[in-house]
Amino acid sequence: MKSLISIVAPAYNEEDVIEKFYLRITKILSALSEYNYEICIVNDGSEDNTVKICHRLLDNDPHISFLSLSRNFGHEIAVAAGLDYAKGDIIILMDIDLQDPPEIIPQMIDKYEEGYDIVNAKRKSREGETWLKKFTAEMFYKVFSASSGKVRMPKNVGNFRLISRRVVNAFKELRETHRFARGLFCWVGFPTIEIEFEREARAAGKTKYNYKTMINYAIEGLTSFTTAPLRWAAYIGIITAIFAILYMIYVFWMAITKDPNLQKGWSSMMIVLLFFGSLQMIFLGIIGEYLGRIFDETKNRPLYYIEEYTTKIN
Ligand code: UDP
Ligand code: MG
Repeated sequence: MKSLISIVAPAYNEEDVIEKFYLRITKILSALSEYNYEICIVNDGSEDNTVKICHRLLDNDPHISFLSLSRNFGHEIAVAAGLDYAKGDIIILMDIDLQDPPEIIPQMIDKYEEGYDIVNAKRKSREGETWLKKFTAEMFYKVFSASSGKVRMPKNVGNFRLISRRVVNAFKELRETHRFARGLFCWVGFPTIEIEFEREARAAGKTKYNYKTMINYAIEGLTSFTTAPLRWAAYIGIITAIFAILYMIYVFWMAITKDPNLQKGWSSMMIVLLFFGSLQMIFLGIIGEYLGRIFDETKNRPLYYIEEYTTKIN
């Protein structure tokens, strides 16, 4: 019995790329004679012809499995759903826009055969990205690794990775609503290796991520892995409190020595007031962030609903 490889590719309004993706990946997978394969496309509530195109592929190729979510849940949830339904002994997560080149899949499988459970595909360069994007990405890795303790996240690794069945089984137990898959795979553990590749430009269509979603993603990543920002709040609070006490002693001293400068103190009072006001706002924000998460997690809702699941793989 041949082992099964499942490709899990989420798609949100990708009518322009699905067929290109299908052709290119099929060429690679059909050449791997020791393996059977499944291409599981997860439709994340697309509003274009994605579903229609997927149905056409389903009719013509028994290797296709199609999972359709009841609405747009976002990339992370689409991946979680895909992993719940994929049947493979080996699973490869990739974007459907062909930014992740299928040609390196045989190399990933070699690594799996060597005994690795997770094979991360690492972008060699970030060419074509703005300096701001590169800079913010760099900052994010720095802050994340400084605050996430034992969880080590590799740099420049996106969604593209191979994972073994036992990693998928572990991952499936993590049902949190706020998901940061990259971090979750590090958290799960098991032997991991990286291979490098050149990230290509999108084959067609356009990115669904802009700066707002990127910032949200970074906040998700940090707050779902560490409570360190709460501790920073405490540290900064203690330090500013020390300065405030010193300043209070100084003001008090001026008052008892009837220092003639005392009347001029209005501006410094305002500064102190504003400073502490703003600090409080920042830390209320941080606390609110965690409170929001507790709220979301305690609701314990299912991650997604399935509208359709079709497969010929058994
Ligand atoms: N995607 C998704 N749901 C969303 C947004 C994106 O399933 O709400 C899919 C999208 O179809 C693609 C992958 O996630 O296969 C990555 O998205 P995109 O290419 O827009 O992101 P980028 O590569 O620019 O980071
Ligand atoms: Mg992309």
